[in-house]
Amino acid sequence: MEGGRCFWPRGKAVGGSSVINYMIYTRGIPTDWDRIAAEGNYGWSYQEILPYYLKSERANLKRLQNSPWHGRDGELAVEYVPFRSKLSKAFLDAGKYLGHRRVDYNSPDYFGFSYIQATMSKGHRWSSAKAFLHSKKKRKNLHILHSTRATKVLIDPATKTAYGVEFQRNGRVYQIKAKKEVILSAGPIESPHLLMLSGIGPKEHLESFDIPVVQDLRVGETLYDHITFPALPFILNTTRLTIIERRESTIENFVKFSQYGDGPMSSLAGVETIGYIKTNESDELGDLPDVELLGGCASLASDEGNIVAKGIHLADWLYRDTFKPLENLESFSILFMLLHPKSKGHLKLRSRNPFDYPKLYGNYLTHPKDVATVIAAIRYIIKLVDTPPFQKYGAKLHTKKFPNCVQYEFGSDNYWECAIRTVTSTLHHQIATCKMGPAWDPDAVVDPELRVYGVNNLRVVDSSVIPRTIVAHTNAPAIMIGEKAADMIKRSWGMVS
Ligand SMILES: Cc1cc2nc3c(=O)[nH]c(=O)nc-3n(C[C@H](O)[C@H](O)[C@H](O)COP(=O)(O)OP(=O)(O)OC[C@H]3O[C@@H](n4cnc5c(N)ncnc54)[C@H](O)[C@@H]3O)c2cc1C
Repeated sequence: MEGGRCFWPRGKAVGGSSVINYMIYTRGIPTDWDRIAAEGNYGWSYQEILPYYLKSERANLKRLQNSPWHGRDGELAVEYVPFRSKLSKAFLDAGKYLGHRRVDYNSPDYFGFSYIQATMSKGHRWSSAKAFLHSKKKRKNLHILHSTRATKVLIDPATKTAYGVEFQRNGRVYQIKAKKEVILSAGPIESPHLLMLSGIGPKEHLESFDIPVVQDLRVGETLYDHITFPALPFILNTTRLTIIERRESTIENFVKFSQYGDGPMSSLAGVETIGYIKTNESDELGDLPDVELLGGCASLASDEGNIVAKGIHLADWLYRDTFKPLENLESFSILFMLLHPKSKGHLKLRSRNPFDYPKLYGNYLTHPKDVATVIAAIRYIIKLVDTPPFQKYGAKLHTKKFPNCVQYEFGSDNYWECAIRTVTSTLHHQIATCKMGPAWDPDAVVDPELRVYGVNNLRVVDSSVIPRTIVAHTNAPAIMIGEKAADMIKRSWGMVS
């Protein structure tokens, strides 16, 4: 990666990262949420959180119209992606060939393969802003200040009570007071950052920046993320099966997309299908997946390195050497997501200036189990593509070695380890930086009602509270957390029984 670093963008927009994400809609499986509840987080079992997923969802999913696992009256549009390449069917057929069932992966019967359900409406992105704010903009009790940066939560140190927020807009500093409570919802990087700037965080760390400590909590000391390896291209001997950007950038396709929400431009950057597998590295009993596969109809070369490779900050030398030669070929990749990494990251302040980004440490692949699982996932993908549904298109693994890994035999464990350490890409699911947990959890920042420990009238409501890894991309879980928190807040202030 450029400079040996991964790129961690966030959506700095109304709607947050749902404005820039891949739109994959996943919720986490019952075991995930039941484990979170069993750890002392009352109210968070699957049975208890499911109603909030159903509440926000407006599903329009063929053949699932009567499913009890989908909501139809909410604000968040969920659909299958209208565009499907032939490779998406090959992925599902290959799964079947290896014994995987077709499932609705957002139901409790999740262990199998499926087309991706996406947060889109008629083929177009359905961000949280579109879903929850656009139609409510004129409400008298809602004020949206865009282009505005919160710099601090205002807390009375004597009573340890949050009473407002300091923010900057057009170079001016303002303060706004809260009548009831302050809700921090700045995402998994900025919520812990703002807490630390406001005096809530690891005491010794805050003191090293001369920040007066309001509450000593382990803010930012836990961070999990989901990684992938987007650099496993396969080449086909059949034409017009993949999305090649130059070929698809036509007026006709633009019209198809803008008028009818269809065609290759409605694709999630070529990602089409999903499959849950359990590798032989898993220690779990039963059908608990450790890897999610993401079938695609494009590779890093399909846009000539202009969008996806640049978007993940892939180093130019690697692109030129390994992927550029594929630009004129039909190529595709199957991605995977390491669902339960054992490697743990953290984040720290860089300075006490709120405009300085915090220091982010993913610490990916620092646990040997993660390396072994990732290698098993790569081997599984190769096996999947070696089945008749892909072989009828002549799919072949691109076996050019990464130039920095030439000393290893292609396909050996050492080679794959070198490769995945070279291209370690995040799926941007950082969590647990303001970890939710019961009072006896020394790492907990918020309680199961999302109230910051030791501080009155302050809650964190976003993906930073998710305490452990889940089988999900984190957009829908963040929205579910918002729905659930809304009920908690109403209950706290006696607005519902
Ligand atoms: C490139 C990318 C692809 C992804 N793909 C998927 C996917 O396909 N499916 C999926 O489920 N998830 C995906 N995710 C993850 C998902 O989008 C996030 O988990 C989800 O948006 C998290 O919601 P959040 O509210 O916790 O944080 P965010 O969405 O990051 O929202 C935080 C909000 O706070 C605002 N903010 C932050 N700091 C301040 C401040 N100091 N002052 C004022 N405002 C502030 C930001 O502008 C933003 O609006 C992706 C994420 C990225 C970045």
